Amino acid sequence: MERAPRIIILGDGTAGLNLANKLRKLLSVDDAFITIVGNSHRHYYKGDGFLIPFGYKKPSESYKPIDFLLSPKIEHVRDEITGIRIKDRTVLTRKKTLNYDFLVIATGARLAYDKVPGYLGEAKHFYDFEHSMELRGILDQFKGGTIVVGTCQANVPCAPSVFEFSILLDQYLREKGLRDKASIKYIYPQEKVFPIDEMVPVMEKLLRDSEIEIETGFEVDSIIQKNHEIHSKSGKSINYDLLVLVPPHMGQNFIAESGLENVDNFVTVDKNKLTPPEHDEIFVIGDAANLPIPKAGSAAWMQAEYVAKEISRRVGKIMVGSEYEGDVGCTLYTGNGTGLTIYFNYSKRPKVSKPRRFDYLLKKMESDAYFSVIARGMI
Ligand SMILES: Cc1cc2nc3c(=O)[nH]c(=O)nc-3n(C[C@H](O)[C@H](O)[C@H](O)COP(=O)(O)OP(=O)(O)OC[C@H]3O[C@@H](n4cnc5c(N)ncnc54)[C@H](O)[C@@H]3O)c2cc1C
Repeated sequence: MERAPRIIILGDGTAGLNLANKLRKLLSVDDAFITIVGNSHRHYYKGDGFLIPFGYKKPSESYKPIDFLLSPKIEHVRDEITGIRIKDRTVLTRKKTLNYDFLVIATGARLAYDKVPGYLGEAKHFYDFEHSMELRGILDQFKGGTIVVGTCQANVPCAPSVFEFSILLDQYLREKGLRDKASIKYIYPQEKVFPIDEMVPVMEKLLRDSEIEIETGFEVDSIIQKNHEIHSKSGKSINYDLLVLVPPHMGQNFIAESGLENVDNFVTVDKNKLTPPEHDEIFVIGDAANLPIPKAGSAAWMQAEYVAKEISRRVGKIMVGSEYEGDVGCTLYTGNGTGLTIYFNYSKRPKVSKPRRFDYLLKKMESDAYFSVIARGMI
């Protein structure tokens, strides 16, 4: 009897966990070996980066052990991935060499601090658990001054994050009675406050209503630590007392050495099939993929849905094929107990509704839903 195909998933984050669990539901242990490779000990829900800095969430509720989320019928190799040898269909980790029939790359993005001189040791952010906790301590001690909030790139995972953080910062400072002692400046690399045109008037109004100053066209060049000054590529500079800056993102280093076509180590893929050119046996999902849509967890789950079905079809367990249509959904915090949801894909432009209480509650519940349903691959 022919052996069952071996599916290797690289990355034990949002996309990898969701896909591994979905695949295991579609394919029995006799249908396929499934291995997930990653270097995390626990899985953190990144969306809580909006709540932890303001003390709006108990930090211990924001992560779970990986093995608690992963089906026991999936092999988990906890190790660092060091390379892919595409010709041999093997993956190298520090300790092992693994063969695959299907490979899924879901290794997300890395924070590339070195691209901005002066970033390290000066700017703060909320893009991982440790830095969100650091920011929580700093905001707790904050007594007043200028807070600059910005991003080095527009296309970072969770593109609206700078907007959401700014709005929540305004709310937090008002609650603490510090708003009249603080100014908030929102800096953005593009000539508008957000890349999606339909969102621009809504966001601009909410920022202005919150008395947040807006500086668009501010492409970050460098930070002069001794002067507490941030400089743009066009020669503008802004002084700050606290700088909250989303760092540049790149794909993982081993992608560059794999020979796969990429942009900043994000793998170039067919936008409907999620496979790199001439490699039908490889799929790329989540932040690791170079796609013409924003990087988001919701996009990653929907990509995982497509890939789980496509691999199951190729293994002979599903008859009907499909394609990934570029679906992304996103619920944003819009302040004062309201939220706003947008949904779009490659062919549908987003419809923007008014901020509502319902969407805020939806977003607040997301982390519970995330650990109980989404990471476990139920949707
Ligand atoms: C503050 C914040 C708020 C967000 N809010 C939302 C939101 O509200 N809605 C939404 O849809 N999205 C949101 N996102 C975006 C979402 O979290 C990401 O798009 C999502 O996590 C991408 O999943 P991923 O699996 O591609 O990457 P990740 O979740 O980052 O997983 C990558 C995994 O690969 C592993 N890995 C990488 N390199 C190696 C290696 N060499 N060896 C071994 N393992 C490796 C990592 O350890 C990690 O486990 C938010 C992001 C942030 C930062």
